[in-house]
Amino acid sequence: MSAWEVVIGLEIHTQLATKSKIFSGASTAYGAEPNTQACLVDLGYPGVLPVLNEEVVRMAAMFGLAVNATVAPRSVFARKNYFYPDLPKGYQISQYELPIVEHGELFITDADGNEKRIGITRAHLEEDAGKSTHEGLGQFSGIDLNRAGTPLLEIVSEPDLRSAQEAVAYMRKIHSIVRYLGISDGNMQEGSFRCDANVSVRPRGQEEFGTRTELKNLNSFRFVEKAINFEIERQIDVIEDGFDVVQETRLYDANKDETRSMRSKEEANDYRYFPDPDLLPVAIDAAYIEAVQQTLPELPDAKRRRFVDEYGIRADDADILTTSRSLADYYEDVAAATAAEAQGAANFIVGDLMGALNKAGLGIEDSPVSAAALAGLLDRIRDNTISGKIAKEVFEAMWAGEGSADEIIEAKGLKQITDASAIEAIVDKVIEANPGQVAEYRAGKDKLIGYFVGQVMKETGGKANPGQVNQILKQKLG
Ligand code: ADP
Ligand code: MG
Repeated sequence: MSAWEVVIGLEIHTQLATKSKIFSGASTAYGAEPNTQACLVDLGYPGVLPVLNEEVVRMAAMFGLAVNATVAPRSVFARKNYFYPDLPKGYQISQYELPIVEHGELFITDADGNEKRIGITRAHLEEDAGKSTHEGLGQFSGIDLNRAGTPLLEIVSEPDLRSAQEAVAYMRKIHSIVRYLGISDGNMQEGSFRCDANVSVRPRGQEEFGTRTELKNLNSFRFVEKAINFEIERQIDVIEDGFDVVQETRLYDANKDETRSMRSKEEANDYRYFPDPDLLPVAIDAAYIEAVQQTLPELPDAKRRRFVDEYGIRADDADILTTSRSLADYYEDVAAATAAEAQGAANFIVGDLMGALNKAGLGIEDSPVSAAALAGLLDRIRDNTISGKIAKEVFEAMWAGEGSADEIIEAKGLKQITDASAIEAIVDKVIEANPGQVAEYRAGKDKLIGYFVGQVMKETGGKANPGQVNQILKQKLG
């Protein structure tokens, strides 16, 4: 066990899936020509006024309820003042002293397989800034303000995480929750879900936290893990060499797999926060919260527990199958349509189907094999028409669009041989062709049974029922 204990807190920025921006009517659609989706409010023109998009309030309230937090009856927008080219107003509208969500929690599975509670300090609403671009512009930089004013929910955790792996588990859980709720598409390539990781180390047993650094804008689970692990090692080296960790903001360079200093850490008072006089406080009453509560879907943890109880599948499979609503729905569709065991269906989806989807870079929504089609395949394993091994071959053909399981089994002649007399004939042939091995087997070399099974399978193109082959071989050789 290391002499150092790691302490991590995450700030996750989730882009809310509204059609228009948080304080203006401009579109939030991704990928448009630069500066075609920024209106006067987003451009920070003098004299224009922000108007709050009610949808963001509803989404933030949904999140708050989903993580067992307090949804504040009164929250206040504040100006966070700083100067940057992609921020034309000279301030970002955020929430500071009175955020809309406070005191939440969620549960992750730690390295020992135990459930661990992670506190959520707060979640507040704010607007995103624009983007600076440098590519293909020679000595100039470009500013694209399409993203300016896009609604964000910033979710801040307590410093409860103790390893990079726990940080990733927490981040995955938040990702899964916001997607279940439908409040964010969670698209990490497009920056809709990104995270800053605050990392410090302290001698094991010390109560006081060490000095932290903040790693900015990590936009994949893999980078979060790598950046944190690099930073832990770096901080330990700094301290063991007799220096102090400097509180600062650092940037992760994925190409070099290292973090480097970006700027010294700013303090809250550097931002001169004050309530935005252009916006009224947000007042939410109990009836509103109750109405939002009614719209909450079944969440990942509840679904996972239900899958274990209702289908009797393994907890780790239930965990994987409930990471997204669409995958969970797919599983339930298959389970409802097949006579096969629920665990068998889970195995095939988690193993073969998800393997093929990952390899092709596809999501479950784009699976070329539908839930009904997969159920058709599982039924043929279940009724012994094909073996589990041949099923993989049939699945590949289904994936390639060659038809249903039944059509492929028929066209390729893959039907399992279960006719005992046909198997016996082949067994006889194999025994006759291998007198040496037969003698060795009879002299006590039991292992050779595998060799005979292999020979029979070879003769039948893998189609003989493996159980029957074993039984007939043993009987004839014995
Ligand atoms: P700021 O507003 O400056 O970013 P906060 O106090 O709001 O700072 O904390 C931001 C994040 O940093 C939170 O997720 C918190 O849990 C985490 N954090 C605070 N102190 C430490 C520390 N010593 N080590 C690791 N994480 C920390
Ligand atoms: Mg911060």
